[in-house]
Amino acid sequence: MPLYDYAPKSAPVTELRACHCTCCQKASGSGGSVNAVVPSADVQIKGTPRRYTMKADSGRTLHRYFCGECGSPIYSQRDANPERMVIRAGTLDNPPPLQITAHIWTKSKAGWSHIDAGAKQVAGQPD
Ligand SMILES: [Zn+2]
Repeated sequence: MPLYDYAPKSAPVTELRACHCTCCQKASGSGGSVNAVVPSADVQIKGTPRRYTMKADSGRTLHRYFCGECGSPIYSQRDANPERMVIRAGTLDNPPPLQITAHIWTKSKAGWSHIDAGAKQVAGQPD
């Protein structure tokens, strides 16, 4: 660890989204995931993560990348949007000093997950 490094050549992380979809719940074994959406071109991967392809709650094809040795989730990419990476924020070398700005897929959130009332909430997939 870590297996990758986010190198912000064109855009810093400006937003952290918490995803409460059932896929993120299963993949994390918890309430979901907290993610930074960044341009794929700005990310350098060290090593070769394993890939698992699945159909997301949105119905889209999603690739989930994880460390083949320790199993840590690293990032995901939509099949239709390879130019963007959805990086699991907890694996960043230097996590951005941000609050979670939006919660998505709140309609499937676990009953024990807390959502800050001041954060933006989207019931399903945002635009
Ligand atoms: Zn999700």
